[in-house]
Amino acid sequence: MKHPIQDIEYAEYLFDKFYSIGSTENGGVTRLGYTAVEDEMHEVFVALGKEKGYESYTDEVGNTYIYNPACKSDEDDEYYLVASHLDSVVEGGRYDGVSGIIAGLLLLEWAKRDGLEIPIRVGAMRCEESSNFGRSTIGSGLITKEVYKHDIGEAVNREGKTLSEVFKERGYNMEPKRIQGVKEYLELHIEQGKVLEEYDDSIGIVTTVAGPRRFRIYIKGSAEHSGATPMGMRSDALCAASELILEIEEIGKDESIYQSVATVGTVKVSPNALNVIPGEVTLGVDMRGIDSASLDRMEARLKSACKKICEKRKVKYYREKTSDIPPIAMSMDVQQKLLRAAKKLRIPHRSMISGAGHDAMSFANICETGMVFIPCAKGISHNKKEFATIESICDGAQVIYEHFKEEMEV
Ligand SMILES: [Zn+2]
Repeated sequence: MKHPIQDIEYAEYLFDKFYSIGSTENGGVTRLGYTAVEDEMHEVFVALGKEKGYESYTDEVGNTYIYNPACKSDEDDEYYLVASHLDSVVEGGRYDGVSGIIAGLLLLEWAKRDGLEIPIRVGAMRCEESSNFGRSTIGSGLITKEVYKHDIGEAVNREGKTLSEVFKERGYNMEPKRIQGVKEYLELHIEQGKVLEEYDDSIGIVTTVAGPRRFRIYIKGSAEHSGATPMGMRSDALCAASELILEIEEIGKDESIYQSVATVGTVKVSPNALNVIPGEVTLGVDMRGIDSASLDRMEARLKSACKKICEKRKVKYYREKTSDIPPIAMSMDVQQKLLRAAKKLRIPHRSMISGAGHDAMSFANICETGMVFIPCAKGISHNKKEFATIESICDGAQVIYEHFKEEMEV
């Protein structure tokens, strides 16, 4: 949809303020959670609020919030939390997370301009990406008590420090109070896939966030001389792994009617030498879906495939489940309201699942939660080439704003 030039200019201004922070030589950004670079992002966020006369505060785990004191609700009043994150992966893009923060600031601006006292708080959640501690949604997970992370304090960052140590240094609390008063949690995010682009839609209303089930599979054969060992006398771990990788692809394909996917994303070969038969291989398997029964079937098939292939190839194996997060449904009510808003604004839209995880997952159990996706070019994300248009961010924010306006009228 068409947006007034001042909205586009303001959104561009906001985007530019974050642009250079954490920039790398290769053209991307590295803004890891709970580092000085992420701190800087939060400082800029607060400063941008201050420019507009908004107030800010930080919670016990370092998440930052800003709001317009002119429509500050009483202590006990409920508010809309419009949030996302300001950290990134290593060599990531500039739209993941930041788009949602820009949307929040636009909403505050529009409400002020229209003289509407909508109780909005814009939140920047800490450490959404797993790139620093190997765990995702740390900031939002801790304050909602939705951490699927019993041993989160022991998670170690890239410098070898545990989260507990980092929290101690920063004066944060590993056991914060649960966040109170959130009426609805709303998050705008780039899609990170190419569904919207393929269908030429401007907005996606998220139905369910897929839950990842992850496994590490260790395969042990025998590392022997590649010249001196006849073909019939080998136990090649990489050949077994290769069969398994293709079988996992099949499993994903068979379950794709349920919108499930299965990927082997990492392969570690040892000794990884040209003249040695691969003795050990470690595979990282990522299975995701929105249908628990489908995920169960995929897991069962993975189990039997490991057994069958490794027995046939006379290699040993060990399978470890590294993550098991159930699919998380977004609020039906919020979905309906966002769909109605998109329809009213005549923005081409569709309901869709989220294959990637988001802070919204943390909130789904404590309040009404919804997500709005906007397209990103060619579906590329977690990459310096990540790109979304400022107009798309405005489109998504408008849908949320329209929903707020309707709520105010009721
Ligand atoms: Zn993100």
